[in-house]
Amino acid sequence: MSLLQSEIDTPELVVAKFGGTSVADYASMSRCADIVLSNQATRLVVVSASSGVTNLLVELTQANVNDERRLVLLKQIAQIQYAILDELGRPQDVAAIIDNILSQMSVLSESLELNRSKAVMDELLSTGEQCSSILFSAVIREKGTASDHFDVRQVLRTDSHFGRAEPQIEVIATLTHEFLQPLLSHYVIVTQGFVGADEEGLTTTLGRGGSDYSAALLAEALRATAVEIWTDVAGIYTTDPRLAPNARPIAEISFNEAAEMATFGAKVLHPATILPAVRQKIQVFVGSSKAPEMGGTWIRHQVEDTPVFRAVALRRDQTLLNLHSLQMLHAQGFLAETFATLARHKISVDLITTSEVNVSLTLDKTGSDSSGQGLLSESLLQELSQHCRVRVEENLALIAIIGNRIASTAGICSRVFNVLENHNVRMICQGASPHNLCVLVAESEAAQVVNALHQNLFE
Ligand code: ADP
Ligand code: ASP
Ligand code: MG
Repeated sequence: MSLLQSEIDTPELVVAKFGGTSVADYASMSRCADIVLSNQATRLVVVSASSGVTNLLVELTQANVNDERRLVLLKQIAQIQYAILDELGRPQDVAAIIDNILSQMSVLSESLELNRSKAVMDELLSTGEQCSSILFSAVIREKGTASDHFDVRQVLRTDSHFGRAEPQIEVIATLTHEFLQPLLSHYVIVTQGFVGADEEGLTTTLGRGGSDYSAALLAEALRATAVEIWTDVAGIYTTDPRLAPNARPIAEISFNEAAEMATFGAKVLHPATILPAVRQKIQVFVGSSKAPEMGGTWIRHQVEDTPVFRAVALRRDQTLLNLHSLQMLHAQGFLAETFATLARHKISVDLITTSEVNVSLTLDKTGSDSSGQGLLSESLLQELSQHCRVRVEENLALIAIIGNRIASTAGICSRVFNVLENHNVRMICQGASPHNLCVLVAESEAAQVVNALHQNLFE
């Protein structure tokens, strides 16, 4: 077998990301450290905050927490860190850094009472990942391998859109080569997912679930050979295994299909994760850190099997905006104006259907920012109301059937609509992409619809 020159020059480099449940406690971290050490090519580790910590931090950022509750939350976070420190035998240097971060948490949460600054909220939200990265690195060292933690804010440059910051790809590449890459030949480096910094060095976050994205961005900057996403399921399944017990793991899936799944709610991957991987053609692996021997899913540029039906994804918490305007009839510019208004409010439209005098748009609440601030502000609604009548519907769920050639295969709609015959479908979108067919239903019926579709299409 002959190797390409680029393959000879570039040594293998794997970036491994471990999610919240994978770094929940000492035993989980220790299992994950074994996964890292089992592959010499794994030199960079990206971690989430220990399970539950980001939720506690989000609660600390909310306006309605009183002092008593604040202390309870801080104590809960501290207990999670100290339990891990205790198992490590409380090394003094590590304990001192953790204590310092815990007191920063206290100061930051207190300062939010006076000034509800989004920059301070992000600084506070980032402390969960700061703790887990320091502790994980200590667990690797305990196993006899040189390891250090690395402050990702040195390299993961973003804009200043706190709570949902946009990464700046080229700057990240330059900074990574200068500050991170040289360390990888000496240490297994452990760094924080979810966190970045703007040009002024202020801490930003990438939105909930953003650690997958961080891992892919760093892999892109380092031109890694693969990114491994280690989580609590053995890969990407035909649907969320929590919803359908008969869901099956998928061995191999294309970038396109995986991107659609992530976009349409398969929480196992943050929606933006695939973008950097596609840009650099980096393979992505998804597996379970509790059962690495079970294997998982490989996401690749090209795959052999491209079935018509690949998976069913569910995204809860959808908002439907119905805009009505008689001016729209045979007129131009109404949609342009609407989209411009939404863009000014940093809202990305998801699905769209139109009729003569109505436009319906869905907005994804899971796309709100890290501290869970809502999407629809009063000022946005007021602006929209100036040129149309606005009706807002909540408590909806979007179900996407993901696959290949969906728009060009006969009989798909009849199979899907047969399953849906007893449900009220609020909106249907099909045709724009060959990879999906989406229906909007009441949140209360969502699980039932996903199960029925899964049974009919996959079992
Ligand atoms: P982590 O904390 O490791 O990032 P997440 O909770 O974000 O983990 O994602 C893993 C979860 O994604 C699983 O526990 C599962 O319930 C959910 N999930 C949703 N859709 C799918 C799917 N199609 N395949 C696998 N898991 C899925
Ligand atoms: N800790 C962050 C969250 O819970 C980021 C992540 O886990 O991906 O959303
Ligand atoms: Mg996740």
